[in-house]
Amino acid sequence: MSILCCPACRGALDEADEGLACAACGVVYRVERCSADFTREEGLDEAATRQRDIYEGRLAGQGVGAFLDPEVARNLTDTYVEAARSGYVLAPNWLGLEYRRALERLAPFPGERVLDVGCSTGSMLSAIGAAFGTTGTGIDFSVGAVRLAVEYNPLGNEYHVADALNLPFADGSFDVVVSFGVIEHVSDPERMVGEVVRVLAPGGRALIYTTCRRSRWTWHWWQRLTSGGRYHLGVDDLAGHDPETFLLPEELEGMFLASGMERAQTVVVHTLYSLMLDEAFPGMVPALLAKPRLLSPVSRAIELADALLNDRAYGNEFLALAWKEAS
Ligand SMILES: [Zn+2]
Repeated sequence: MSILCCPACRGALDEADEGLACAACGVVYRVERCSADFTREEGLDEAATRQRDIYEGRLAGQGVGAFLDPEVARNLTDTYVEAARSGYVLAPNWLGLEYRRALERLAPFPGERVLDVGCSTGSMLSAIGAAFGTTGTGIDFSVGAVRLAVEYNPLGNEYHVADALNLPFADGSFDVVVSFGVIEHVSDPERMVGEVVRVLAPGGRALIYTTCRRSRWTWHWWQRLTSGGRYHLGVDDLAGHDPETFLLPEELEGMFLASGMERAQTVVVHTLYSLMLDEAFPGMVPALLAKPRLLSPVSRAIELADALLNDRAYGNEFLALAWKEAS
C-alpha cells in the first residue's frame, strides 16, 4: 500500500494511465519517472509561487546559487554523503555538526522512514540515510530540483513535487520528519507544522531548522552594525527571506505543542563563532574531518565560546525538535 494520498481531499490514489488518480475527488496527478507532481493540479498560494520563482532563478538578485545545475547537485550530494559517512556531521561545516547532534537526539534507527519537507536536490536526505541507515522520501515544490534528485539518487530515495502546506501523504506515514530552511518561506507556518505532525506515526519525531528573529549579538548582527549597512553584510534577506517574518524558538516550540506533539525543545545554532568560522573558513571542517581527533576539542571550544548567547536563545538560526506520543 502506498503512503501517497490526494493532497486536496486525502483520498486514496489509484494508478491510472495518465498518473495517479484520486478515488474520492477524481483529480489525476501526473507521474514522471516514479515522481508525482502534486502542485500542477492543486496549485500553490501566492507566497509559494513567488518563492518558487526566486528559488528557480526567475527573479533576479536574490542570491540563489546555481543549484539546479546537474553537476552542482551531484557534487553537493556526494560531498554531504561523504561527510555523513565520517560519523561526525551531516554536511561539511559547523552547521552540519549541529544538525547531526540534533538529529542524534531524535535517534533515527536503520529502516525508519524519514521525510524531508523541502528537500531540494536531495543532498541532506541522502546524508541522513548515509548516517543513520534510514529510508528517505523527499518533497519539494521545484520540479527542477526533484528531477535532479531523481537523476542522481545514490541512496535510492523517493521524491515528489508537493507543497509543504498540503503534504500528499496519509496520516502517520513517517517516523521522522525533517525540514531545513523552509518554514521561514511559507505563508502559514502553523499549517506546515500541523502537516508535519499529521504525517508522523505515533512515537514519531520532527526537526525543523530555520532562521531566528532574535539575532542580536550574532555574527551577522555584528556585521550589520560595523558595516553600517554598506556592502550588504550580515543581512539575512536573500532567497526571499524577510527577517521580520522569522520565527522565535519559543514560537515554533509552541506550534509543535499546539499541533499535538508531546514534547518540544529548541537548540540555537550558528550564533557568533560557528557562523563566523563557517563563512570565513569554509575549509576548516573538511580539514578537521581528516583529523577527527582534533574535531571534538575544537568543536567543544566553539560551543563554549557561543554558550553565553545560546543560553539566552540569541542565535542566527535554530533547530526545533519535537516528539510525538508513542501510542
Ligand atoms: Zn482527491
